[in-house]
Amino acid sequence: MSRKMLIDGDLDNLSGENDYDFDLFVIGAGSGGVRASRFSAQYGAKVGICELPFHPVSSETIGGVGGTCVIRGCVPKKILVYGASFGPEIQDAKEYGWKVNDNIDFDWKKLLHKKTEEIVRLNGIYKRLLSNAGVKLFEGEGRIVGPNEVEVIQLDGTKLSYSAKHILIATGSRAQRPNIPGQELAITSDEALSLEELPKRVVILGGGYIAVEFASIWRGMGSTVNLIFRKELPLRGFDDEMRALVARNLEGRGIILHPQTNITQLVKTEDGIKVTTDHGEELMADVVLFATGRVPNTKRLNLQSVGVEVDKTGAVKVDELSRTNVPSIWAIGDVTNRMNLTPVALMEGTLFAKTVFGNEPSKPDYSNIPCAVFCIPPLSVVGLSEEQAIEKGEGDILIFTSTFNPMKNSISGRQEKTLMKLIVSAETDKVIGASMCGPDAAEIMQGIAVAMKCGATKAQFDSTVGIHPSSAEEFVTMRSVTRRIAASGKPKTNL
Ligand code: FAD
Repeated sequence: MSRKMLIDGDLDNLSGENDYDFDLFVIGAGSGGVRASRFSAQYGAKVGICELPFHPVSSETIGGVGGTCVIRGCVPKKILVYGASFGPEIQDAKEYGWKVNDNIDFDWKKLLHKKTEEIVRLNGIYKRLLSNAGVKLFEGEGRIVGPNEVEVIQLDGTKLSYSAKHILIATGSRAQRPNIPGQELAITSDEALSLEELPKRVVILGGGYIAVEFASIWRGMGSTVNLIFRKELPLRGFDDEMRALVARNLEGRGIILHPQTNITQLVKTEDGIKVTTDHGEELMADVVLFATGRVPNTKRLNLQSVGVEVDKTGAVKVDELSRTNVPSIWAIGDVTNRMNLTPVALMEGTLFAKTVFGNEPSKPDYSNIPCAVFCIPPLSVVGLSEEQAIEKGEGDILIFTSTFNPMKNSISGRQEKTLMKLIVSAETDKVIGASMCGPDAAEIMQGIAVAMKCGATKAQFDSTVGIHPSSAEEFVTMRSVTRRIAASGKPKTNL
C-alpha cells in the first residue's frame, strides 16, 4: 500500500493542528458529496473526494462523478419524460389544426444517444466544479479504515491511504431486487435508462414514483405497459385523493394497472419473459422492471470495524447535524435514508459545510419540502397530505379542492382532469398542505412552497391576484370549503 502524503504538490501545507492530509475526505461524488466538498473548500478547507469510475449502469464498483441524479436518476429520467410527452402532444395538436401524418415515427436510439451525450457533458461539468473549487478528486472505491483514515482502491488495485480530520460518507443508494424466482431476468431503473431497444411490452413491479414515471415514459412512447403493485393505489405516502387521480390518469393514458398484486415468478421463453402474478395471470414482456425500492450503499465501507452505527436497512445513523456516533465521521444524502431527494442531499451537504467549516452549527429543515412525481401528467406536493394532517391531530382542518378540465384540453378533447388541493388549519388559517396533479404541477408547486415556507395563510392566498388564464390561478381562487374535517375525523375524497 502506498501512503501518499502530498498530492500533486498542491497540498503540502498540511492543515490543522494534527497534521492530517486533508481537513475533509468525502466518499462519493454525487449530489450531496460534490456540494459538501465544494462548499467546504470555499470555507478554506483542504478537501479530497473519491468516486467510482463512470458508467450509466451502476454496480458496487461503478458510479461516476455527478452520482445518481445526474447519471441514472432525475436528469436522464426527465429527458425521457420530455421525450415521451411529445407523442400524446402531437396527437392533441391535430385538434389545434396541425396536420399530422398518422404514422408518427419515434427513434428511441436517437433519444438514448442524446441522453447519454447529456449525462457525459454533466459528468464533465461536475468534475470541473470540483477542480475549480480546489477539491482533489480520486477515482476509486473508498472505504473507512479508522476514525481519521480512508483508503481508496484504484482501478488497477493500487491502494491509497489518507488521513483526514473529518470524513463524510455520501455514497447514496442502489436499486434492490425482490427475491422472486427468475429475478435475474428483470432490470432496475439503471438499465431502464440505457436500454438498447425500446421494449414493445413492459411489465413494471412497484407502486412508487420511479415505477409510475417509467410507466408513463414507456406508454408515451407507444409500449404496452402493465403496472403491478401491492397496494390498492400507487404512490403510497402521498395524498389518497391525488393517488386516486394519478391511477385514473395512468389508466386513461392506456397503462394497465394491477393493484393488490405481486409477481410470483419470471420465466424466459422464446416469446419473451413470462410473468406470473399471485392472481394466476400470465403476462408476456420484453422487459420487466423492478422498481421496488433502494438500499443505502454501506456494505463495502467497512463501517462495522470503525464502529459507525447503521440501522436495519443499512442506512448510516446520524444526529440532526448529520454526524455519526464516531465524532470525526459524518454522513449525508440517500445513504442516511432521511428524505431521498437531490435537493435534500444538497441542503444536507451545504449545512454540513457550514456546521463543520463555517463554524455555524446548522440543522437541515425538513419541513415543507416540495417534490414531484413526473408521471404524465405530473403530481407535485408540499407540506401535509389530508391523511397526515388528520393524523397530526392539531385541530380541525379545512380542505379546498378544485377539479377542472385544463383549458388546453377543451380544444384537444383530451379527457383528463387536473386536481388542486389546499389543506388549511381551521384554527390558524395557515396553509399546511398543497398538492396538484396536472400539467406543469412541479413548476407551479415550487412557488407555493415558498409561500408555505413563509407561513402563508389562506387569507393571503386569497388576496393574491391570479395570473390569467392559467391553471395556477386556481390556487388563489378556491373560495369555498370543500369539506371541514374535525380533529378526530377521517379523510374523504371527492373522486
Ligand atoms: P448519489 O447521487 O447516489 O451519489 C453517491 C455517489 O457515491 C455515487 O456516485 C456512487 O457511485 C458513489 N459511491 C458509492 N460507493 C462509493 C465508494 N465506496 N467509493 C466511492 N464512491 C462511491 N430525486 C429528486 O429530487 N428528483 C427526481 O426527479 C429524482 N428522480 C430519480 C429517479 C431515479 C430513477 C432515481 C434512482 C433517483 C431519483 N431521485 C430523484 C433521487 C436522487 O437521485 C437521489 O436522492 C440523489 O442522487 C441522492 O444524492 P446522494 O449524493 O445522496 O447520492
